[in-house]
This record gives sequence, structure tokens and C-alpha cells, in this order.
Amino acid sequence: MAQRTPWSLSGALRGLFAKKTIDAETWDDLEDALIGADFGPDVTDAVVSELRAKVDRFKTTDPADLQRMLRENLEERLSRLNPTLKLTERPAVVLVVGVNGVGKTTTIGKFARFLGTFNRSVVVGAADTFRAAAVEQLATWAERAGAEVVRPQQQGQDPASVAYQTVEYAKNNDIDVAIIDTAGRLQTKGGLMDELAKIKRVLERQTPIAEVLLVLDATTGQNGLAQAQAFIEHAGVTGLVLTKLDGSAKGGFVLSVQEKTGLPIKLVGQGEGIGDLTGFTPHVFVQQLVG
Ligand code: GDP
Ligand code: MG
Repeated sequence: MAQRTPWSLSGALRGLFAKKTIDAETWDDLEDALIGADFGPDVTDAVVSELRAKVDRFKTTDPADLQRMLRENLEERLSRLNPTLKLTERPAVVLVVGVNGVGKTTTIGKFARFLGTFNRSVVVGAADTFRAAAVEQLATWAERAGAEVVRPQQQGQDPASVAYQTVEYAKNNDIDVAIIDTAGRLQTKGGLMDELAKIKRVLERQTPIAEVLLVLDATTGQNGLAQAQAFIEHAGVTGLVLTKLDGSAKGGFVLSVQEKTGLPIKLVGQGEGIGDLTGFTPHVFVQQLVG
């Protein structure tokens, strides 16, 4: 079983909230803790100055009040965007994009199971057609999840045609959700973006695309976000999936990524098991983060 939520913030804050009073050191410690947890300088500055103003306004010196205000502040920020997946079309077509190794294929397996528990039938399409191993990996996950799979007829088949066949399969077999796996090779960024654009064009002729989910490996922090920028600019992303939050990820990234991209976090991966995917609930997340 994967370890869960070893986020550094609550540890870093423990000393601060254990003190008897709020003093000048409190603010330095809070700033250090937020930066250390990968909130990024902009969010950190904003949070610290908002909390300072609030502490002044309420004339409190009790660190417990500050802890509560921090929770409220972060929860309010995280709740600004709507995390609800829009899967009302039938079939609902979900395109999953992101750089290699972030966890796209694993997420699709977990997501298929997640949907299955809500009695939604799922077909997954292996539109990462270049490597046979990628197709097999997706097929294995689909089997575990109890989902159908559409494979390329030959290695290297046009990804857009596999995506097309997946949606046709969903239509012909009355399947609720079609999830399309894609390649993430960065060295061919231009080519990859063209490939994704073609997949989207082909799909949109069949049916509206319900969601384009960008998968981000949370352990890579701001650096991973920079790598994913091309997807945000070109792929028409509708939501984020953060993976590996069970690993060395720092919780502040969750907020900074949402504020930086303006895109809602819709799913969170916390392990390599098929059950390790949940929706995103700001309240629960902030409880884990701040304690
Ligand atoms: P893709 O290249 O984007 O399709 O990435 P994969 O789905 O192949 O995943 C790459 C690696 O990340 C695999 O070893 C996965 O088991 C691992 N992985 C994916 N999601 C998670 C997660 O939420 N937590 C952990 N610890 N590992 C994950
Ligand atoms: Mg993959």
C-alpha cells in the first residue's frame, strides 16, 4: 500500500502553531513553510499578507486563530474553480494528455475503475500507438478495471484513427465513457501538438469532447508545469489531474498550479493501485495539508 500524504507543510507549521503567541517570527516561519511546500512566491506573498491583515483586524495573538484562518484562506482559493467532471454526453469522450511518465496510462486505468464504481461503462482507446508496450500497458489496466479496450490494428497506426474507432465502439456498444490515451514524447513537441490537434479534429466531427485532462506529476513541481505549458497552450485542456501526491510531492503545488493555469484540478492520484484515484475536494485536501 502506498504511503499517503507525507506533505511537508503540516510538519513545518507544527512549531509555529504550537507557540503561545503570534509574533514577528511567526510570519517569517509561515513564509518559509509556504515556500518550502512549493506554493511559489506569488501565492505565498498573497496568503501571508491576507493573513497579516486579518490577524490585525481581529486583534488576535492566538496561533490557533491563525491556523484556522490559513485553512479558510487556502480552501477559499482552492474552491474558486469547479472541480466537477462534465461527463453528461453519451458517449462522454475524455482525452488524456501530458508528458511521458507523468501517469497518463495509470490514471486511465484508475479512472476506468472509478467510473465503474458509479455504474458507468467505459472503453479505453490506445492512441499512444508508437510503442507496443504502451498499448499492452493500457490493455492490462483496462482488464483490471473491467473496461473494454480498442487497440491499434498495427503498431504505429495513426493515433487519430484509433481515437475515432474508440468512439465508434462506444457508440455502437452503448458505452457511457470513452477515454483516449495519448503519447507524450517531448522531443517531438511540435509533432505531438499537431498529432493531438488532429485527434481532436477527428473526434469533434464525431461528437463533442467532454473533457481534455492534462496529467501532471506533482513531484516535479513548477518544473513539470513548465514542461506541460505546450499542452495548456495548444491542447484545449479543460481540467488537471495531479498524480503521485503520495510521493515526494509538496502540497503547495496543488494550489499554485491551479492559480497559475486557471484550470481546475479534477482528479488526484495518490498511489499505483487501481483504487488510488479520487475527485478533488478542497476541504479534505486543506485538512491534510494544514492539519
Ligand atoms: P505515462 O507515460 O504518462 O502514461 O505514465 P504511466 O502511467 O506509464 O506512469 C509512469 C509511472 O508513474 C509508473 O511507474 C506508474 O506506476 C507511476 N504512477 C502513476 N501514477 C502514480 C501515483 O499517483 N502515485 C505513484 N506513486 N506512482 C504513480
Ligand atoms: Mg502511457
